[in-house]
Amino acid sequence: MDLKHFIRDIPDFPKPGIIFKDVTPLLRDPEAFKESIELLKNAASFWDFDLIVAPEARGFIFAAPLALEMGKGFIPIRKPGKLPYKVISKSYSLEYGEAALEMHKDAIVERNKVLILDDVLATGGTIKAIAEMIEEAGGEVAGILTLIELSFLEPRKKLKDYQVKALITY
Ligand code: IMP
Repeated sequence: MDLKHFIRDIPDFPKPGIIFKDVTPLLRDPEAFKESIELLKNAASFWDFDLIVAPEARGFIFAAPLALEMGKGFIPIRKPGKLPYKVISKSYSLEYGEAALEMHKDAIVERNKVLILDDVLATGGTIKAIAEMIEEAGGEVAGILTLIELSFLEPRKKLKDYQVKALITY
């Protein structure tokens, strides 16, 4: 099954000039969704890790079934003000302006090995910020895995210190 058939281009979303990769057709198709989790599992099984860390909102959709399938724990990364306990925060720059993400302070302990998962790797800023939070907490990034990579945005330039895999590359 070619998963690319289930990913739709939405021009001018969220801003003029951006072509947004929309994964909702893939999620709507039970076979395609299942296949995406199988392929993510195959890709992830090359790394040794205990926990899967993923940002809201679409990262959660892929990370939760993958964590169950692989027998790993799941750690949510959220936008500011959403997590109830003490947090580590990380600000990072977007194309225009700044954004921040938060993780529970006790989510990662010294030497935890972690897989970072998301739906789309675009500029790499989100995943770089997550990797820094994991390392500040004493964890190790075993690998970075995404469903889609927008290679023309050159995200791997920001992620030179890490092993990065993507199922679908544009
Ligand atoms: P980055 O920080 O530029 O790599 O952007 C990645 C984040 O933005 C991820 O959490 C993605 O979910 C989201 N994102 C960026 N571009 C797209 C897209 O074309 N489709 C879906 N999500 C996107």
